[in-house]
Amino acid sequence: MTIDFKSLSNAYVQGVNPYVPGKPISELKREMGLTRISKLASNENPLGCSPLAVEAMQQAALDIARYPDGSSYELRDALAAFWKVNANQILLGNGSNEVLELIARTFAGPGDEIVFSQYAFAVYAISAQLVGATAVQVPAKDFAHDLDAMLTAITDKTKIIYIANPNNPTGTVFNQVTWQKFISQVPSNVLVVVDEAYIEYAQAKMGEQYPDVMADLKTYPNLMITRTFSKAYGLAGLRVGAMIAQSEVIDLVQRVREPFNINAMAQAGALVALQDQAFIEQSVSVNATGMQQIADFLDENEIEFIESYGNFITAKFEQAAEINQALLQLGVIVRPQGGYGMADYLRISIGSESENAHFIEAMEVLMAKGMR
Ligand SMILES: *Cc1c(COP(=O)(O)O)cnc(C)c1O
Repeated sequence: MTIDFKSLSNAYVQGVNPYVPGKPISELKREMGLTRISKLASNENPLGCSPLAVEAMQQAALDIARYPDGSSYELRDALAAFWKVNANQILLGNGSNEVLELIARTFAGPGDEIVFSQYAFAVYAISAQLVGATAVQVPAKDFAHDLDAMLTAITDKTKIIYIANPNNPTGTVFNQVTWQKFISQVPSNVLVVVDEAYIEYAQAKMGEQYPDVMADLKTYPNLMITRTFSKAYGLAGLRVGAMIAQSEVIDLVQRVREPFNINAMAQAGALVALQDQAFIEQSVSVNATGMQQIADFLDENEIEFIESYGNFITAKFEQAAEINQALLQLGVIVRPQGGYGMADYLRISIGSESENAHFIEAMEVLMAKGMR
């Protein structure tokens, strides 16, 4: 007997365009039997994470029979001090991905509009689709968010605007002046979610030009911010992200969150990682050097790329799909961008010096064969 499970499923689920993650190292090893593999596909930290966090997680493993603290009291308290907000303004998620989705589930449904940019992080579209809201995709300008056009896209049905600063997969940013002009014009009943997954890198590169969105929480109660431990903190596998908003907003989202969404090892690891800011400084510095290494190579070979404020570079190739496949055979995993309507582009995460060199050597092999 065959059952048409698809027709049994929720209509919104049927319409989801699934997220495609980077290829895991173990999978490429199995497929190709390679020994040297450089994964430059998921914007992970080439330094790993703080060794102090590893120790804390090992310690937490000893007590893993216990349920975690459902309120993540200590971690939220530490984050509140770090961000200079109250602990009741913070909600944690299983990665910021979960938080982005919880916001849609809390505030939007069928008939509502959710606005985001062309080329924006894929999770915004998935979150809108899952709750049956209408996704309003605003054309980008030079691959960056066009905040003026996003303002114009607001209607009386708009519930949420998702914006990423910097954006992934393009690495583009908006500055303090552009941000102020935008947020001051958004109607107060429209929720603005600013996804700052790469803030540590962008702040280091832009200094004062980088918008201090956190400082605007008091002025604009419709503002929400998301942050993550997955990128500069090097804890992508641990799954800890956060949202910062008014406590009334947090109260509502809290109702949608599952009670133990941050596991005990995650709470312990993130708490200690937060205290190791020397590790963050080192990560940002290694990223800046690696970014230069890759950008120099691209420049020397006249390969076009989008200037990036994150820990990745998205570059244009005449034969992007072929190059992606050929790189895999040489043990280098990058991320194709066809899913974003950027089929000519590959996103290269900044790795360690030797991983970046692996990418460059592999590209030199391919270019010698005439691939561009
Ligand atoms: C990587 C990334 C995230 C973070 O995802 P996590 O679920 O926290 O691992 C969020 N937003 C953007 C734009 C990202 O690139």
